[in-house]
Amino acid sequence: MADAEIVAVGTELLTPQKIDTNSLYLTDQLNALGVEVVRKTIVGDERALLTETIRAALARSTIVIVTGGLGPTEDDVTRDAVAAALDRELIFNQDVCDWLVERFKKFGRKMAENNKRQAYVLDGAEILQNDWGTAPGQWIVHNGAVVMLLPGPPRELKAMFPVRCLPKLQELLPPQVIRTLFYRVAGMGESDLDHLIAPVYTQYQNPVTTILAAASDIQIHFRARCPSAEEADVLLQELASKIDPLLGERLYSKSGEPLEQVVGNLLRQRKAHLSVAESATGGMIGERITSIPGSSDYFAGGFLTYTEEMKTKLLGVPEALLREHTAVSEQVAVAMAEGARRNTGSEYAVSVTGYAGPAGDQVGLMFIGLATPRGSEAVRYQFATDRQRIRTLATNTALDLLRRRMLAE
Ligand code: ATP
Repeated sequence: MADAEIVAVGTELLTPQKIDTNSLYLTDQLNALGVEVVRKTIVGDERALLTETIRAALARSTIVIVTGGLGPTEDDVTRDAVAAALDRELIFNQDVCDWLVERFKKFGRKMAENNKRQAYVLDGAEILQNDWGTAPGQWIVHNGAVVMLLPGPPRELKAMFPVRCLPKLQELLPPQVIRTLFYRVAGMGESDLDHLIAPVYTQYQNPVTTILAAASDIQIHFRARCPSAEEADVLLQELASKIDPLLGERLYSKSGEPLEQVVGNLLRQRKAHLSVAESATGGMIGERITSIPGSSDYFAGGFLTYTEEMKTKLLGVPEALLREHTAVSEQVAVAMAEGARRNTGSEYAVSVTGYAGPAGDQVGLMFIGLATPRGSEAVRYQFATDRQRIRTLATNTALDLLRRRMLAE
């Protein structure tokens, strides 16, 4: 199976101001052909370093794509560096030079002398015409590998690659397909999850498993690479049949949808509405729910009640309850959810009350309340992290609790 490496050239890409976006685009294109990108390197405009990088890439991979550094100036070193790495000469190409002259003429300009540098082509290279800029690309077959030199400006690269490179790659490559399952898991930490599923996924080199963790919301990617989509799907299903029972109801999506979308779908299926009563999360639950297009079909509205007075006024939380148990308590969380449900007429309501910190000795203590047609409850959580993560964790946990309760009905 063909593996690829991408080398992005440009000193500016090593500064905090500029990101190498070309390699993201190229990786997407290559993956669609079933080619895995195994390494990406960013190198400044330094001939010796670039030569060394290209040599090393060629020793490892069958496809090497170099982007950038094809301009007309002294610091555009890609052509020279590739020539040195491949031990091939750079030959002046009159056709390319004529084409450049014509191109400048078309825009009412005279070509500068140093643009002639762009007319030098590696011995044996095929020219990839660039109709979107001045730097032509080059395609070189070298000891069974392919080296591509492509322009750096993303606009030019994106216009050129599908037209000039894709058809040639398709011709060259055996049929390969990459298929991915995008799992999302709530309610457990990254290390617990890995401990649970590693004994299974480490038995497989294909599919490849990657775990990406965020605050109580983990993504697992299973990528299978096969000659056909059918074969890839069989491999993925085999692995899924072993992983799914281990994850149980913690697995909330197998195709990458966010939690708020899964919750929204469950509400929609039930033709039910949701309301929220938030303290500590300051509207984050409402924001997540309403980030999904069409959420007004099932989202009734919400209450942001921080003071005790507002909890009483807007949600009808009894003053005596607040006095007896404090605002951060199971009882008040339940009363907040029930108040939101009652005042909006929604079938479901979620509430949060807690200490996000950083000040205070009970930081991270949160109660999440639920009021549903089958009754009310509140669950106590203790999150040990910083303010913003506590709020995100509480939001994810509230959405997940609602999801699980709806599934259990
Ligand atoms: P040109 O002849 O137009 O100068 P070039 O191939 O020499 O083309 P560069 O000079 O390296 O390209 O880069 C041109 C522009 O494209 C710059 O703004 C640069 O920051 C941007 N660029 C180059 N490489 C990348 C990359 N990998 N990701 C995102 N932007 C890039």
